[in-house]
Amino acid sequence: MVLADLGRRINAAMADLTRSNVVDEKALDSMLKEICMALLESDVNVKLVSTLRANIKKKINLKDQAPGINKRRLVQKTVFDELCALVDCQSENGDTPAFKPKKGRSSVIMFVGLQGAGKTTSCTKLALWYQRRGFKVGLVCADTFRAGAFDQLKQNATKAKVPYYGSYTETDPVAVAAAGVARFKSEKFDIIIVDTSGRHRQEQELFAEMVQISQAVKPDQTIMVLDASIGQAAESQSKAFKESSDFGAIILTKMDGHAKGGGAISAVAATRTPIVFVGTGEHIHDLEPFTPTQFISKLLG
Ligand code: GDP
Repeated sequence: MVLADLGRRINAAMADLTRSNVVDEKALDSMLKEICMALLESDVNVKLVSTLRANIKKKINLKDQAPGINKRRLVQKTVFDELCALVDCQSENGDTPAFKPKKGRSSVIMFVGLQGAGKTTSCTKLALWYQRRGFKVGLVCADTFRAGAFDQLKQNATKAKVPYYGSYTETDPVAVAAAGVARFKSEKFDIIIVDTSGRHRQEQELFAEMVQISQAVKPDQTIMVLDASIGQAAESQSKAFKESSDFGAIILTKMDGHAKGGGAISAVAATRTPIVFVGTGEHIHDLEPFTPTQFISKLLG
């Protein structure tokens, strides 16, 4: 089920409860049943769905509510809070400050992910996002594996009017990454975004290359790009990447279209890595910051 339908079904289930004459256990159970079914059909993990159900029941606890309490409001707020908790991917160590680039100091952001996930597209989107907020941003193409990778980045960067760096002759991705970052640092860029190779599947070589690039450019933030249409497989994929390149954030792409976004989001939540942005289309402006409350508010319209 696509996300818009999920939102509609959850809303409809809550509206049924609001319309019913009495808010009792029976009405509550029937609403929860419908919400849980909608979540499962959106590919959200079974365990997470049953936790959500138990948490809602526990928090609402109709028997012990004072007579004057607005039960409908209580139900709505509880459902909303638990849906937020479901997609909340903040790191276990909640004290770790989120990455915040500063103007006048060069920050390096390195992108990792499988080929086709949407890395190059997302690099450009993020570059543009920061550029529009007054940062001086440069893009470095460290993908020397795929023929045409540099051309693609160049084309995207030109469209977005973002300066770029790459090489047609250098075959060592670590050398290109280091040279690109050094160039932009010497020119006092605020944010330097490094796009890496994705190859076509998780190979040891690819992971080793990412470690080397990471050592060479010392990123302030490493972002993993993940295709939302892979649903729950997002969990194992992000875990595999996490072991090699210790990324601190995720961009979930292709949240438009027919992606069962619920599956990917809950899978990512299980890895306790924050989703920082979601890609919502092929256009360079189709990037939205991700925060659980905003996402759920939008989902429920
Ligand atoms: P890379 O191999 O990881 O660098 O992936 P690309 O950036 O080349 O993207 C692969 C394909 O996915 C391209 O056709 C992109 O236009 C498309 N793509 C990337 N992000 C999104 C997104 O958020 N929504 C949609 N619909 N397509 C996307």
